[in-house]
Amino acid sequence: MTGASVAVPVVDGLFALVAGEARLTGTRCASCGTHYFPRAISCRNPACRDKQVEPAALPNTGTLYSYTIQHYQPPPLFRMDDWAPYALGVVDLGEGLQVMGMLTGVPLDEIRIGMALRLVIEPLYLDAERGEVLTYKFAPLGGEQAA
Ligand SMILES: [Zn+2]
Repeated sequence: MTGASVAVPVVDGLFALVAGEARLTGTRCASCGTHYFPRAISCRNPACRDKQVEPAALPNTGTLYSYTIQHYQPPPLFRMDDWAPYALGVVDLGEGLQVMGMLTGVPLDEIRIGMALRLVIEPLYLDAERGEVLTYKFAPLGGEQAA
């Protein structure tokens, strides 16, 4: 509204700060307990009768299930100002839920399947109108930025 520096999520409703901690915002089926991310409008479990879903803050730690190194620029929505090859991981959050996200804070050649990760919120790029555009990523759990 004013030109003041603000920060906005790259897509509304993907993540939120809950008690100061970054959490992905998903949904959970009230009937069968299946979790969804991004949010689902109804349960997709064919065996589920009720299908009524409710918002759920998902676990913010997990383990790396799989990953790939991206050597090309992401689509415009996820553009980056300082682009370089980056790792895209599939992170197992438990609850039967696997979430895709960029990896950060770890050199590409030190990424290991099964490593413990935590959710972080980082700037993706600076938008002239919207300010700093944020996204969620996964960083090594417990480790600071690798030296
Ligand atoms: Zn269900």
